Amino acid sequence: MLLAGVMSAAALAQSAAAPDDSFFFEKGKLRVLILSGRNNHDWRASTPHLRRILDATGRFDVRVTEEPSGLTAESLRPYDVLVSDYCGPRWGGTAEKAVAAFVHSGKGLVAVHAASYPFGEAQILGSHQTPTGVREPAWSEWATIVGGAWTEKEPKTGHAKRHVYEVKWTNAAHPIAQGMAPSFTVSDELYHQFALKPGIEVLATALDAAEQGGNGRQEPLLWTNRYGAGRVFHTALGHDVAAMSAPGFIASFARGVEWTASEKVTLPASVSLDPKDKDALRVMLVTGGHDHEQSFYAVLDGLREIRVTVNPHPAAFGGDFAKAYDCIVLYDYHVGDLPEVPQRNLREYLESGKGMVVLHHAIANYQKWPFWWKEVVGGRYLMQDEPPAKASTYLHDQDLEVTPVGDHPIVKGLPPMYIHDETYKGMWRAEGLQILLKTNHPTSDEPLAWIGPWTKSRVVYIQLGHGREAHENPWYRELVRRSVIWAAGR
Ligand SMILES: [Zn+2]
Ligand SMILES: [Zn+2]
Repeated sequence: MLLAGVMSAAALAQSAAAPDDSFFFEKGKLRVLILSGRNNHDWRASTPHLRRILDATGRFDVRVTEEPSGLTAESLRPYDVLVSDYCGPRWGGTAEKAVAAFVHSGKGLVAVHAASYPFGEAQILGSHQTPTGVREPAWSEWATIVGGAWTEKEPKTGHAKRHVYEVKWTNAAHPIAQGMAPSFTVSDELYHQFALKPGIEVLATALDAAEQGGNGRQEPLLWTNRYGAGRVFHTALGHDVAAMSAPGFIASFARGVEWTASEKVTLPASVSLDPKDKDALRVMLVTGGHDHEQSFYAVLDGLREIRVTVNPHPAAFGGDFAKAYDCIVLYDYHVGDLPEVPQRNLREYLESGKGMVVLHHAIANYQKWPFWWKEVVGGRYLMQDEPPAKASTYLHDQDLEVTPVGDHPIVKGLPPMYIHDETYKGMWRAEGLQILLKTNHPTSDEPLAWIGPWTKSRVVYIQLGHGREAHENPWYRELVRRSVIWAAGR
């Protein structure tokens, strides 16, 4: 209903004939549909991992179906390539015909590990029968599409015990292999004695070593096939997520998906699962002096534009970190004096124009260093009464409404948030601070985040962030991410 509201009448009329999916897919990316939901392997772990590999390349818009039996020609139409992480009952005539026609028409298919098990002929599901106990007639076309499949006829397909072995490219000129090292090492099952179809192009093999219980022969593990106008890539590798974490698996799989989808390979020989931008900000995160939940480390994790190094006390501020970092983030709690050298280094860092984000309990830091809390941070948690001021107070497990203030880039467009966190009350604050967040919660001071008074570099303080409820809140993560980017001068 909502869709009808946002699509123009012309767009709706057009969608009856040839729907325009461009609104719903990422521009310029190859469209991948992973087929999953049944497997004699742990598809609940492997499918998200395959998706993560493809997402990390930035080349694909990846979707997943856990009910491939519902596929139709129409539901497959927008995609460039199917990745099968499926090994289970047949999909039924409509879905099977749709998948075969999809590939035949010139699109791609990638079969991973157990997906080479032939539908129907003999189900591998424990009892070698379907879950209903009924053997199905085979969908023999699947083996024709993939270019090979498991067989129970002699010589039977199988594998020796899992071990570490080398996969060698035998066709290094193929776009999938080009630029990669001549071999790569995996810990995986080594499938042997596939029933292969004529016309496949073997890309890589491995020695099925007799001393590991193998047949002593080189076995084809990676191959390509043509089905009609379509391209197929098969990888026998990938028994579990650990096997799928081998750099050689990651790169060959991602490049295989790209090749089947587009007939070209642009991806590098090595694919990182935690890709960083070339000019990613270098952040030093300082902890120590206060316990905290492990979830805190997720706040700045997995971002392309930020690379974090954790450097806790007493090592923090030990060296010339102004050269090594673009921004420092403090989640430490160091109420007493900083030793002379770290103190001088930290001051020089701030004098040099480099930025800083101070989080949560770090507002209690360096109490006897007025330069720090007066001139730089603009706030201090009072550890005891300082007449006429009373000691500051804290209270765990509060639910508070937080409202962004003004249109500073750190909070611009952020919605108000209702968050479970710790509150502080009765802190000292500098006059005239630019406030970013406020609350009217009775156990909290009104300002919850501000820009520090320091003018030689950019300093931000955010009071929130005690526990998991804040750390895992995307709103909080966005707040910290923006603060780091702003403090670093971007
Ligand atoms: Zn396996
Ligand atoms: Zn706390």
